[in-house]
Amino acid sequence: MSAEPGCPYCAQPNAPQALVCRSCSRDIAIPASLIAERDDLIRKRARAREELVNAKAELDLLRGRLRFRPRQK
Ligand SMILES: [Zn+2]
Repeated sequence: MSAEPGCPYCAQPNAPQALVCRSCSRDIAIPASLIAERDDLIRKRARAREELVNAKAELDLLRGRLRFRPRQK
């Protein structure tokens, strides 16, 4: 548990509610809603990647079927 979150730019510790880094003067305030949105996007990205892999596998399967179509009769 750290009461002083580090600056994402220069890694210097700042007060928990600091809006601006006291070392490099950059804006370090990140709204909780933005963090939640980011987590949601990361989850969506992981799901999209999974779907892409599945779609590629399905496509390969379909291509294989077209190429090696079983003969009738
Ligand atoms: Zn900083």
